[in-house]
This record gives sequence, C-alpha cells and structure tokens, in this order.
Amino acid sequence: MTETVLEKIHTAVEILKESKHAVVFTGAGISTPSGIPDFRSTNTGLWQKNDPMLVASATAFKHHPDRFYRWLQPLLLASSQAQPNPAHQAIAALEINGVVKAVITQNIDNLHQKAGSTNVIELHGTMESFHCPACQQPAKDSRAIMEEVLEGLIPYCTHCGAIMKPDITLYEEPLPVQAWQIANQEITHADVMLIAGSSLEVIPASSLPYDAYRRGSRIIIVNYSPTYLDPLADVIINGDVAEVLPTILQYLISSN
Ligand code: ZN
Repeated sequence: MTETVLEKIHTAVEILKESKHAVVFTGAGISTPSGIPDFRSTNTGLWQKNDPMLVASATAFKHHPDRFYRWLQPLLLASSQAQPNPAHQAIAALEINGVVKAVITQNIDNLHQKAGSTNVIELHGTMESFHCPACQQPAKDSRAIMEEVLEGLIPYCTHCGAIMKPDITLYEEPLPVQAWQIANQEITHADVMLIAGSSLEVIPASSLPYDAYRRGSRIIIVNYSPTYLDPLADVIINGDVAEVLPTILQYLISSN
C-alpha cells in the first residue's frame, strides 16, 4: 500500500474511533473477492449472455420461470460455495469491537452472516429462503428447494402447486418494506457511514448514504471506482476492500 493510502486509512481509523454509531453499507464489490460475480456488470463472463432485465425481473419470473431459474442456478451455486473474505471478516470484527452497529447490504449471498456479522439488513433480500408468490406460504425447507434448483429443477409450492420464488428483490419490484424501514432507522442513528464495495449506482438503496450525510454523518468510502458521494466524503480510498478493511481493523485495534 502507498503512503497516501496508509494516511487515508489512519484518517478513517480516527473517524471510526470517534464514532458512536458507525454503519457499514456494502455492495457487489465486497463479494467479488469471494468469487461471486457482479450480475449487473456486463463484462463478467457468466452473465454477459444475459440481459438482467430479461432474466432477473418480475416479468421474467412470471412468464419465463425456466429462464429465471437457469439464470439463478449458477448464482446460487457460486453463493452456496463461497466463503467470506477478509473484508467480510473485518466488518464482523468491527461489530464485535463495538464500532460497527449495523451492516446494510445490497448483496443476496449471506456472506456477512457467514463471517459473523449479526445485525445485517438485506436491502435486496436473500437467495437462501423461498416463498410462494401465489399463497404467500414461506418454504418450510429452503435448503431442499436450493438443492432442487442446483439440480436444474423448478421448485413448486407444496400447498398450492405454484412456482416458488427466492426471497430476492427482482428488477421491477420494490425493496422489502421491513428491511427498508430498519435501514432508515439505522441511517437516522448513524454518525459514520462506511461504504465498502459499492459504486452507489443502484437506486433507491444508494440514496441511504446520502440521507445519512444530510443528517450529519461522516462518510468513508472504500471502493475501486468513483461514486456520486465522493465530493461529500471525508475519506475516499480507491483500493481493494479485502486489503483496506483488514488494515483499518488492525490499526484500530493497535491504537486502542
Ligand atoms: Zn402456494
């Protein structure tokens, strides 16, 4: 790491040490080191054949569930085999140390929970549970349904026979109401927002860090590419989340 990056990390650590309620906001970039492709990125091999709107939208699920499940299968496979990386682990450790109070994530891969974070708000839902969109029954055994999908089968509701749906937010769908409300409560309390691995391009999720800023929260950004919030940020570190976040954690622990 360069001197400049290390200086920025020091500044970030000072801000985090002064904070009473730091909230982390994450996106696809935090899971790419774990081998989960960003399905919104058009140049990652796995997805370039698919326009997300044609496969990952509410319309696609309704009219072409076979196509939808062919799209979901490799994503579910990657996610079920993936392990949390040092960035997820550093965030979980920051929660144990009392610095981080909540993680708001746009990811649906469960890796923050696997790393040990306990207060995770999933703005776009999760691939690891299912429900029936017709009779609204949640799946009794989501593991079994995941196995079916991984075998290339389409899962059906045991109550009414409709096709089961993973609890993820598709294109054309609103965000889950409860997660959105809890995220907004966290934003109200946040005095530092640590944005990691998100380019803040997906609305409405990406509006949350700006809301926090308007309420007086300080902003730390760790991401490869620029974001719309850069001009308002206290610290911007354009580096690898899996290197930068563990270094933040290490400095924070050693300076206590
Ligand atoms: Zn049903």
